[in-house]
Amino acid sequence: MCFKYQDEEFFAEGVSLKKLAQEVGTPFYCYSSDKLTRNFQSYQQALKEFNSTVCYSVKANPNLGVLSTLARQGCGADVVSAGEMYVALKAGVPADKIVFSGVGKTQEELTQAIKNQILQINAESVAEVETINRIAIDLGLKANVALRVNPDVDALTHVKITTGKKENKFGVDWDDALPLYRAAARMPGIRLVGIAVHIGSQLLDLQPFRFAFTKIAQMVRTLEQEGIVLDNIDLGGGLGINYNVELPPTCEAYAAVVRETLGDLNKHIIVEPGRSIVGNMGILVTRVLYTKQMGEKNFIIVDAGMNDLVRPAMYDAWHTILPVQRRGVAPIIADVVGPICESGDVFAKDRIIEPVQQGELLAIMCAGAYGAAMSSIYNFRPLVPEVMVHGDNFCVVRRRTSYEEMLSGHCVPQWL
Ligand SMILES: *Cc1c(COP(=O)(O)O)cnc(C)c1O
Repeated sequence: MCFKYQDEEFFAEGVSLKKLAQEVGTPFYCYSSDKLTRNFQSYQQALKEFNSTVCYSVKANPNLGVLSTLARQGCGADVVSAGEMYVALKAGVPADKIVFSGVGKTQEELTQAIKNQILQINAESVAEVETINRIAIDLGLKANVALRVNPDVDALTHVKITTGKKENKFGVDWDDALPLYRAAARMPGIRLVGIAVHIGSQLLDLQPFRFAFTKIAQMVRTLEQEGIVLDNIDLGGGLGINYNVELPPTCEAYAAVVRETLGDLNKHIIVEPGRSIVGNMGILVTRVLYTKQMGEKNFIIVDAGMNDLVRPAMYDAWHTILPVQRRGVAPIIADVVGPICESGDVFAKDRIIEPVQQGELLAIMCAGAYGAAMSSIYNFRPLVPEVMVHGDNFCVVRRRTSYEEMLSGHCVPQWL
């Protein structure tokens, strides 16, 4: 199951990564459908006492194969753009299981969401609520709206992935939420259906969730006293995963916090996990191009770059790197670096790692979330294939882009 060594050779489920590399070339992403399914089911299982919907956060990995696998299991989707909404619908996620989040939705995107009659639009400002109202009236429809509130709690995570503090751009300020609910309740284009919160990503402590959910419960009670009764409480995503030595809370422990803070409200609970569904179901497989020594330092130069996986460069993220063929020889200390013309193109600094030879394969672990999703063609490098394995089976769920495809939108100005 998932990723493991069989006789010193690394496998994805029943599929040899060496064989896959021969088949599709390197670098490539490899996803385990078994791990993906089990991650989703952990949430389903933990939340089964509630009326709940797991809305997978598509931005973590928008691959159609990934989304279709989840949709088939009954998973919903949290989208942050009309593009993600399009993919989610294509994958078979029903509109009434789609939540639309994001601080800057365009009028076109809102129009799409309202026409599709999705489960809820999480609005983040007065201006957005007014815009939704206007569009809905023009369409002769009512939009299902929740307010994303900013609970002003510190998620105790990396600054670039903290979203629930007052100084972040996200959500409606806590003190402005009640007046905005009152105003929205009187708008004819708006059906107020919920409240939403999302405080950050890669949370390893439940306490910030507990603070935020407690504040949400208070808000829901206050609103009910005013006759504003909401159906949905959307708790966002953010549960962390183990990249190195982290000890993330389990789905059960998370569910216990939901029970403790919101259990007696008997609402429809929505969760929007991204990373914790797809993070550890994916790896990035890369080939060693060269090894070199400069002074005391060892460098392992691989064919994947920061354009394929930007997390180390962007968030100082740690990814475990394993040799696909393990030899059991004494490790060295080396930097594992990509070929991009940027000093930040480093996957691991001073890493203790088995020495590898030119041409050998390395697996960069836990790359399923914010990996392919954030990749680019910087240095005019093709987007790499994404391969999904299922037992002994595999499918290239996105092929490598060709140079023709990369140039297809370009043109030479007519004055040349
Ligand atoms: C990014 C995001 C998520 C998912 O966060 P993870 O840390 O990947 O679980 C959920 N909800 C919203 C609104 C987001 O922006």
